[in-house]
Order: sequence, then structure tokens, then C-alpha cells
Amino acid sequence: MRTREAIEPKELAFDIDGVVADTMEVFVRLAHSRYGLSHLSKEHMTCYDLYQCLNLEREIIDDLICLTLDDEHTLQIPPMPLAPDVLTELAEHGPLRFVTARIWPESIIRWLQQTLPQVAPENIQVVATGSPEAKLGILQELGVRCFVEDRLETCHFLVRAGIQPLLYDQPWNRTSNQYPRFRTWLQLRQTIFPENGTNHNTGAGGP
Ligand SMILES: [Mg+2]
Repeated sequence: MRTREAIEPKELAFDIDGVVADTMEVFVRLAHSRYGLSHLSKEHMTCYDLYQCLNLEREIIDDLICLTLDDEHTLQIPPMPLAPDVLTELAEHGPLRFVTARIWPESIIRWLQQTLPQVAPENIQVVATGSPEAKLGILQELGVRCFVEDRLETCHFLVRAGIQPLLYDQPWNRTSNQYPRFRTWLQLRQTIFPENGTNHNTGAGGP
């Protein structure tokens, strides 16, 4: 597989929501607490367009999305397991680059700074594009070769432009197998740092 070639950290960038941040965990929590939708889980989100896959009124979905992305709730989003460790390690090789389709980057920048306290703020670079489609031009400008993303539709146009998508596994992106899929940040780490990543889950690297 192409991604088994070493990826230079400087050629790499990350989406934030659904990749570094477990954003929909907050959506689910709010659905439970505000609307009593206690049956709802992330597993019900089988496509990126929540209007299509959740059997809920449009107004409720809109309200939950708004709440999830507001400043107060953004700061409560849990990180994906091990994402802070791997990103902190990666920051030793150069600035971390994040490209998000959010319109307002302030709260997610603050979230990244609180999630990555050992990374200098100037080494956390965030571009907010306002739309998924605008990610391509930014990634090209930044010289990014590989982009970690959870939205399949974004992967489709990135790969056509020669950027290798690394798909972070989520219930809403399991309808395609065309991209290298990463279920954990440990797997991502092993691709980014293949020379020292083998001991963590196989035990096969020992003497
Ligand atoms: Mg995302």
C-alpha cells in the first residue's frame, strides 16, 4: 500500500472534527440531555449527511449541530484516544497543520491549545476554510501530500488532485474501502513513524 512508504511529517496535515476531536460524542451527549434521545449513538450516523441517516426532525439536527460547534461545547469535546500523544510527538518534527471546514476557527484553536499543552502555540497552525471544497486549494498551497480526513466526499476530490487521503474510521465513512483506513491513532502513528511504531501492539519487535 502506498501509505506504507514513510510519510514525511512535513507533508502531512489533519482535519480536526472527527479526526483529532471526537466532536460527535458531544452531539450525542446533547441529544441525550436536551432532547431525551437516549437511544441515539454515533453508530447511527451511517452517513455524513445527518439529515439522511438520523430519523430526526431537521430543526432538532440543526439545533444539535449549532450547539455542538458553539464556543462553549467545542471546548468540551473529548480528543480521540492517543491523538494528543501522537500529535505532541509529531510536533517535534515541525509545526502541526490543521485544515478545517469550520467557518470560525477561534474556539477550535483554543481547544487544540488546551488539548496539546506541550506544543508551542505557534506550532499549531489552523486554516478554517468555511467549506470542505476549499480544503483542496489550501492543502496544495501548504504542499501537503497526505491528509487525514473522516469525510469520504472530501477524500474523493483530494485523491483526484493527487493528495493521498488517510481515512480516519468513523461510522459515517464505512461505505467505501478505497482509502487506507485508520481505526486508531496508534495505527496512524505506526504509519508516520514506522521505524519505532511496531512494539506497541504486536510485541513482535522485542528480542
Ligand atoms: Mg471532519
